[in-house]
Amino acid sequence: MVISNSHINTSAEVFVASPWIPAEWIRAHGLQPRAILFAPGFGAEVGPLGAGICAFAQNSLRAAETAAQPAVVFSTHCDQLRRAFDAIGPGAGTRTFLFNIPVTTRASVTEKLFHAELGRLGKFLLGLGGRNPTAKVVARWVDEFSVARRCLRDAANLHVGRDYARAVARFHGDGSAGLPLTDLPLERKVTGSTRLAVVGGPLSPDDPLWDQIEDAGGCVVLNGTEWGERSLGFGTGLHDAYETASAEAPFPATLSQSFVEHCVDVFQRPNQRLYDWLAERLRARRVQGIVLWSYFGCDLWRAEAQTMREKFGLPLLWLEADESGSGAERQTNRIQAFVEALT
Ligand code: SF4
Repeated sequence: MVISNSHINTSAEVFVASPWIPAEWIRAHGLQPRAILFAPGFGAEVGPLGAGICAFAQNSLRAAETAAQPAVVFSTHCDQLRRAFDAIGPGAGTRTFLFNIPVTTRASVTEKLFHAELGRLGKFLLGLGGRNPTAKVVARWVDEFSVARRCLRDAANLHVGRDYARAVARFHGDGSAGLPLTDLPLERKVTGSTRLAVVGGPLSPDDPLWDQIEDAGGCVVLNGTEWGERSLGFGTGLHDAYETASAEAPFPATLSQSFVEHCVDVFQRPNQRLYDWLAERLRARRVQGIVLWSYFGCDLWRAEAQTMREKFGLPLLWLEADESGSGAERQTNRIQAFVEALT
């Protein structure tokens, strides 16, 4: 099954460092939004970590500085990305933008801030050569992205592990929802495997972790990483709102409302919604253990390890991305031991 935005025909790519920067808003300006994971050379090599910047932020910085003609939208959801943005050299200044993502969950404040940021982002996109969108154009792209997200959310009950991670990553790359056809229920797919959730920061679908878990006898039935299922709530129910958009209720306001209602992330204060979102799915999918995955130096996720253990009462394995690759064997052994202990 493929829901495709392949008719997208633009060469002007805009890489975003957070799934909460609305791709449909960028697309409505005639530009191609893509997750920063798809930026040329992203993740190819990681230098020594300096100035307290995690590898994800460091790679984002490199993408902004070295790729040919990249436009990169950073976000303020953590200090490390903010620092990476501050470190960008002057040459990339007109092609980079810092989107202020509200961390408070107070609806009135958040909506106002997000709305203002959409306006600023729109101006930046026009500066890149984008078009000023009409309400009709915005409605079209909001609808397309909403349908793709809904399709992927529904598929979370049918697809597991790397397959599902790839499908969601592809959506963040080109807006499409493509999944292998299957009518095999999740229950039958996971028979004989240990049901795991992977929760945490940005995790590439090409990361060896997916195979390490499968080889150990585990099956990832919940992908709660940054670009995984957790990122797909945005845009829920938006199309109706756009169809009724009027001069009194200008269309970007509904994007702001959607962020307020559907953002689920570790940086939110308080971040109770993250725990509620996880609790519902951990229960429904009968998860036996949690793999908490984060980049080395990511304080936001590190701080949640103990709370997650206590709140969910499930065994939890905390893994930090190995920057040198020398710890791959150790990671494999730890995953094997974790899965064995659960069976
Ligand atoms: S991985 Fe953690 S430290 Fe790095 S940018 Fe994301 S939230 Fe920030």
